[in-house]
Amino acid sequence: MIDGVVRITENEWEVPCGYIPGMRVPGRFFLSESLGRILEPGALAQLANVATLPGIVKHALAMPDIHWGYGFPIGGVAAFSLDDGIISPGGVGFDINCGVRLLTTPVSLQDINNRKKDLIDQLFHVVPTGVGAKSSQKIPSHALDEMMIKGARWAVENGYGNERDLVRCEEAGGMMGASIKTVSAKARQRGIPQGGTLGSGNHFLELQVVREIFDPVAAKAFGIRDGQVCCMIHCGSRGLGHQVCTDHLKLLETATKKYQIKLPDRQLACAPISSPEGRDYFSAMASSANYAWANRQLITHAVREVLAKMFGIEYDEMPLVYDVAHNVAKIEEHRVDDKRMQVCVHRKGATRAFGPRSPDLPSDLSTIGQPVIIPGSMGTSSYVLCGTATAMDKTFGSTCHGAGRVMSRSQAKKRLSGKEVAANLAKEGIIVRAPHENAIADEAPDVYKPSDEVVRVVHDAGISRLVARLVPVGVIKG
Ligand code: 5GP
Ligand code: MN
Ligand code: MN
Repeated sequence: MIDGVVRITENEWEVPCGYIPGMRVPGRFFLSESLGRILEPGALAQLANVATLPGIVKHALAMPDIHWGYGFPIGGVAAFSLDDGIISPGGVGFDINCGVRLLTTPVSLQDINNRKKDLIDQLFHVVPTGVGAKSSQKIPSHALDEMMIKGARWAVENGYGNERDLVRCEEAGGMMGASIKTVSAKARQRGIPQGGTLGSGNHFLELQVVREIFDPVAAKAFGIRDGQVCCMIHCGSRGLGHQVCTDHLKLLETATKKYQIKLPDRQLACAPISSPEGRDYFSAMASSANYAWANRQLITHAVREVLAKMFGIEYDEMPLVYDVAHNVAKIEEHRVDDKRMQVCVHRKGATRAFGPRSPDLPSDLSTIGQPVIIPGSMGTSSYVLCGTATAMDKTFGSTCHGAGRVMSRSQAKKRLSGKEVAANLAKEGIIVRAPHENAIADEAPDVYKPSDEVVRVVHDAGISRLVARLVPVGVIKG
């Protein structure tokens, strides 16, 4: 492990105060020794930087999918006091409310085996992909306002889903505190044509089959059974969220100076949560988060229509297991130093993992804990886990969000050929469709850490518990 880091337990490490000047709290991260060998020192330095921010409580945290990000590390979690704490776009990321959802189906692998290519082609046709992908539905300007205020509820009210879908989304698919006044005309312009689109790069729509059940009780409660075909959707707030982040970063750079906040890195631009600039960012972020939930709901609807038609199944036979946001800041109540307090929790490439009896859970999952959806890669396993009391205690109810990147896009382009990657996956029965070959090389299984090892760490550390393992059978890449 990197010099200066202290081991706390088998998979938990501390970056002590003093690791860099100005740390207000220690850093804590979750990692096995083998993942420690590929830990970037730069990402750890970013974790220490976060610990210097005003009003941070308990620990600056990182999950085992930690890697270098803009300002905060990806895989990072940090909570700030509402009285003297800050809010920072770098702690949320450019793709506001990037997130993952999982739908189950009553279909098994045998049912799709000889129609897999046709199925993937049809899904590729109805879900627009790629950098500037535009929606097939025309969303009027007033509908955009509703998407930003109501989130997934807007989609359900307009026939793109059912009430039960909302219960199975974090925040019921719509955060409070959104305000469209804080979203620029440019951001709106980018958002209008992109509703229901997947976007580029890391985003995907994947057919998977359940290969292993670790916790039969939780799996049953989540509606997951062995051999079942499921659909995982990963995307966020598209150009709208990106523009909101860009716009507010500029405003918060000015605010950082105005409030005389000293930063070890400019990318940590921030403002007091209670300041006008901080509140405006929160409102714009919430608007983008809601747009992202509406977006994932529109894609879900398109997928269900294809599956219903192709396999003669009912729309309601494809329920949502859960939808998690992994790039977001939220006001939550947590226990800090034996007192309950309201904090602004930033999760940047980290997933909420609330334990049993959390009031935010749907009542039928109250004794189990929140479903946690963790993608692996287009060639390795993805996982469903559930939230735990240990997560509530140690990580503000958070866990990892994926395997985490180990190879940059430019390295991947140099080292890997998209054609070869697709051919190798095809040998394993995995079909990949993408707008161009580069998109496949960038996202090959080799560019990510081993998902098995990452989820083993969060399971062993107790900050979430394994429920099921799924393997890919067909992937649409953005
Ligand atoms: P991010 O939101 O940080 O871009 O990605 C989240 C995680 O998704 C990555 O860390 C990686 O583990 C996973 N991932 C990326 N591409 C794919 C894919 O095509 N299929 C699956 N199942 N997971 C992926
Ligand atoms: Mn994203
Ligand atoms: Mn993401």
